[in-house]
Amino acid sequence: MDRPPAPLAPPYPAEARPGWFGDAVVDLVAGSTCLGCARPGRLVCRACSATLAVPPAPAVVRPWPRGLGPVWSAAPHADLPRALVVGHKERAQLGLRRPLADLLAGAVAAGAAAALRPGTAAGTAAGTAAVPAGRLLLCPVPSRPGTARRRGHDPLRTLVRGAAARLRGRGWDVRAVDLLVAGRARDQGELGALERQRNLRGTMHCPSPRLARSQRACPRAWVVVCDDVVTTGSTLVEATRALAAVGVPVLVAATVTSTPRRGGAAVTGRG
Ligand SMILES: [Zn+2]
Repeated sequence: MDRPPAPLAPPYPAEARPGWFGDAVVDLVAGSTCLGCARPGRLVCRACSATLAVPPAPAVVRPWPRGLGPVWSAAPHADLPRALVVGHKERAQLGLRRPLADLLAGAVAAGAAAALRPGTAAGTAAGTAAVPAGRLLLCPVPSRPGTARRRGHDPLRTLVRGAAARLRGRGWDVRAVDLLVAGRARDQGELGALERQRNLRGTMHCPSPRLARSQRACPRAWVVVCDDVVTTGSTLVEATRALAAVGVPVLVAATVTSTPRRGGAAVTGRG
């Protein structure tokens, strides 16, 4: 790669350590069952957790939208990975933060390794990708206005911060940074790929104070855009466009899961 790192840095110090141990205690006290096998106890039992340790892979998006760079996902949007994403996002099952952050960290690691050293990351197990030179900034796709308030939490932002912490624990120089904000858009649920792209175009932007603060704090870093699910790629296209509009190239995008479209029909997932 001869493209120089983007002149960016995190606008805030390292995040507070998430209370994952506390979440586990709450799960047990609340009488939860495993989302994979329904065994009473943790939300993801040890045996089901082991099934999540598969190598991340490049996402399959058909048709591949114009403006979308490489995307790496930890797992298909099905079975246990899907149950984790939905449970955390829609049901605020906060005990799922840890396995989800692990999955996202794996996708970031494999995607960044593939982008910075082409040919080295295919088939790389999560957590074993070589540590790249230079800082990575993980930028979550922003939620719509009022969405986090309605849900009572901001699931993606939490996961991105968790993934950054996991990677730092493995020796990576990684920070989470909220560079983007989102405006209003129609609900994406019933829209096809092109409609989603038109619906989202121009709805995200990077406020100049955030960018300036980042540039002052860190002159060189690679930006990885993160989302929970990629379906048509429309959301990642818009995030990439909004960052490019302020001169910030995206190295790679990373998601927890990816949902291939089937038979041209719209599928669930925000984009
Ligand atoms: Zn289980």
